[in-house]
Amino acid sequence: MSESNIIRNLDSDLDYECKIRPQELDNFSGQDKIVENLTIFIKAALMRGESLDHVLLHGPPGLGKTTLANILCNEMGTSMKVTSGPVLDKPGDLAGLLTNLNEGDVLFIDEIHRLSPIVEEYLYSAMEDYKIDIVLDKGPSARSIQIELNPFTLIGATTRSGLLTSPLRARFGIQCHLEYYDSKTLAGIVKRSASILKIEIEPQATLEIALRSRGTPRIANALLRRVRDFAMVKGNGTIDLAITTYALTALNIDAHGLDHMDNKILTTIINKFKGGPVGITTIATAVGEDSETIEEVYEPFLIKEGFLKRTPRGREATDLAYSHLGISIPVTTPTLFE
Ligand code: ADP
Repeated sequence: MSESNIIRNLDSDLDYECKIRPQELDNFSGQDKIVENLTIFIKAALMRGESLDHVLLHGPPGLGKTTLANILCNEMGTSMKVTSGPVLDKPGDLAGLLTNLNEGDVLFIDEIHRLSPIVEEYLYSAMEDYKIDIVLDKGPSARSIQIELNPFTLIGATTRSGLLTSPLRARFGIQCHLEYYDSKTLAGIVKRSASILKIEIEPQATLEIALRSRGTPRIANALLRRVRDFAMVKGNGTIDLAITTYALTALNIDAHGLDHMDNKILTTIINKFKGGPVGITTIATAVGEDSETIEEVYEPFLIKEGFLKRTPRGREATDLAYSHLGISIPVTTPTLFE
């Protein structure tokens, strides 16, 4: 497993996740506008005795899409079936799931932008009219039967809302874009997780972990676990600022929260491509990472923090990236008579 995967905790430890994942909207920190609106939509749906309208949650990984889906389901008092776009490759799989939903149940489809086009078409009538047409037999004897479904709520999660087709997107009555968290909110999340896991942590250390978590609760929680390991082995078990800084340095997380891969991307653009502009696939090949992962996981934060610029001709490193890496900014002489 690569270093960055340890930190990003992609194959999250389920046990640990279950303990610290908030179950109610009250325990879901940050994203105030979204929480405020969802509270109203849930109350209204409950007052009408109807299922909640379909919800699309989009935003970078680790910001709480799955957590929000679980919470919505709890608050509506229903149960949830979970699947993901790449897994649902045949309409039959989708039909099986949909016909097993009870009234008001939630179907959560993660990575919904990766649904196959045929499955997506089936979803349209299911979402709109709670009906699906199933084709029986093949060839001349093929016929289709219509199945009525119980009213349900589809919650779709995606890191790439731009890849969603417009007909699918239009069928979600509620659409929420999750933003990166500020460090105060993240510090609150770290504090809460530490108290659930009975980890002793000093306030300065909590803030330091928050500051270096790329605005992402999942990373904050993962860093907390790793720093705890250092505190147990190298210290007395309590997490203080000194052991936090030591652990984060050992994990290659710098003062801005950028990890090894973030810095590698910036260094590569600057050293190998004169600071850009350079295409995403070229960057991906040069750093040995998948271009989709760069676009979904690394790039949004680098852009948000002002280290990277997206231009029509490709990605460019900003002056901030040069100063962050301690590389002097090349002097460009203006070209006259162009
Ligand atoms: P996503 O589905 O967007 O990739 P998750 O919902 O799996 O992200 O969240 C990742 C982790 O971060 C979970 O362990 C969850 O406990 C934590 N988390 C996410 N958002 C919040 C939040 N707003 N408050 C507290 N913890 C959160």
